[in-house]
Amino acid sequence: MNNRTDIFRPSVIKPDEFDFVAVDNCREDSFEFLCVLEQREIIRSLIHNTGARFSSHNHGGTCHICGSHAQNTAVFLHRPTNKLIRTGWDCADKLHLCEDGERNLFRTFRDKLSAERENKAGKIKAQAILESAGLARAWELSEQKQHDNFKDHDIIVDIVRKLIRRGDISEKQIEFLHKLVNACDNFHIVQAEREEAKKVSKHLGTVGEFHQFEGTCLFQQEWETQWGWGGITVLVDDLGNKAVVFRILECQKGDRFRFEGKVKEHGNRDGENQTIFAGRFRKPVNLSKAA
Ligand SMILES: [Zn+2]
Repeated sequence: MNNRTDIFRPSVIKPDEFDFVAVDNCREDSFEFLCVLEQREIIRSLIHNTGARFSSHNHGGTCHICGSHAQNTAVFLHRPTNKLIRTGWDCADKLHLCEDGERNLFRTFRDKLSAERENKAGKIKAQAILESAGLARAWELSEQKQHDNFKDHDIIVDIVRKLIRRGDISEKQIEFLHKLVNACDNFHIVQAEREEAKKVSKHLGTVGEFHQFEGTCLFQQEWETQWGWGGITVLVDDLGNKAVVFRILECQKGDRFRFEGKVKEHGNRDGENQTIFAGRFRKPVNLSKAA
């Protein structure tokens, strides 16, 4: 080791010639952590902007000065040669390459990284616990940014977050999570059923006055009378309101139809309200045929 001739051997380091660039962590999995990626971005953009290159060194280790295998390193720019060197934090300190601000940065970086590592380990454990409880779906939902059922989704996110931090979960919470997952996954079905239930037929318009109705034909029935043909058409609008028209309209079951008719009666059949139109009638349009 004593026969080194490279320009970064400890004996020839001149601290004034070095600018601190960033910190880094040399463990293989460190690219998975945000705080490392942030620092590497600083190095990358410096290389991009200045054309600086890492000095080639052939004495092994991660510290370009002493050759030790330091996990946490700092990167400095050697201004006279426009070369980047990587050193362990000990060497950086011993050779007076860094100041208090940088030492603080080392500390916060180390804390952040260990928090991120812990969080990652907690996530792996949490996911395994949930999967073994048949709650893989709870994990998926917790990773999802948002959900239409935001109330139940928020609670799932909160429970999973606590599980990641604490590393365990009670039987009761497991049971609760199953309910929340169902509530999220069946949300649209339940919503649709509620909407459907709201569609209770109401009376329309005022008896004796004209009212415009638009809806879908449910059925028609025709019969012969002593004056010719009579019949009724039953329709329902989007809110579930039923209309009974005493005539055969120019439509078939499922057609959209609009008309203005005189309300003859606010009736009720089998407990369901229906508005009966008879007599005066105008502006019939079969919207399905018009389209
Ligand atoms: Zn070193």
